[in-house]
Amino acid sequence: MRMKLVAGNWTMHGEIEQNRELLNMIVSGTTGMERATCAVCVPYPYLSQAQSLLKNTHISWGAQNISQHDKGAYTGEVSAIMLNDFCCRYVIVGHSERRTLYSEDSRTVALKFKAALDAGLVPILCVGETLNQREAGFTEQVVGEQLDAVIGLVGVDALASSVLAYEPIWAIGTGKTATPQQAQGVHVFIRNRVASHNVRIAAELRIIYGGSVKASNAAELFAMLDIDGGLIGGASLIADEFISIFLAAQN
Ligand code: PEP
Repeated sequence: MRMKLVAGNWTMHGEIEQNRELLNMIVSGTTGMERATCAVCVPYPYLSQAQSLLKNTHISWGAQNISQHDKGAYTGEVSAIMLNDFCCRYVIVGHSERRTLYSEDSRTVALKFKAALDAGLVPILCVGETLNQREAGFTEQVVGEQLDAVIGLVGVDALASSVLAYEPIWAIGTGKTATPQQAQGVHVFIRNRVASHNVRIAAELRIIYGGSVKASNAAELFAMLDIDGGLIGGASLIADEFISIFLAAQN
């Protein structure tokens, strides 16, 4: 039985005072909800704040990106090892904004995935297609290649310590959500692809959905057999929304 994960991706949002209020509200609003896992992935400058407000709570925290390198002359970069200084559990790798705005190719994403694992973090690997790719019938090819790049570098066993996030690019921040059936279809494709290497790892792998998940659509998405929670962008910045989404993951 896979425990659902609801992870907030704050993207480049936050202010010390607002963060405090948001995190405190999330902690108190989700207390006692123990049938799913909750996490927030915050901008680097707020990791220390997240650590101090969330330690000894049921909520984990993490970052949204890492360097593929451990250390060195890489101005502006942050290594996975550094995240351990803030007791992070998760790190997002391969978010579509990183792939498109910062030209991260699948090989780089795979190296970041490996760096996260090597540091003992749980990578949340994002995969997903553009609207053009979906309309041209290339969803499975695109998602399959993104997944294969990681499996090719680290081997399928490494997926046992990770989370997959299917995030169709056309649904991120657009208000357009994939229908539960559309998302379920791609989640099954991903699980089958992993199963072609290792059936047990595929069965245990958490595959979460991201793309305009809100309180109003979370329950129907999470009701699908292969949707094991959500990666939540905009709605993770609104305490009531995020708490309701997490509540929907309890069933
Ligand atoms: C995201 O930023 O990963 C995301 C899924 O955003 P949103 O929920 O706002 O679509």
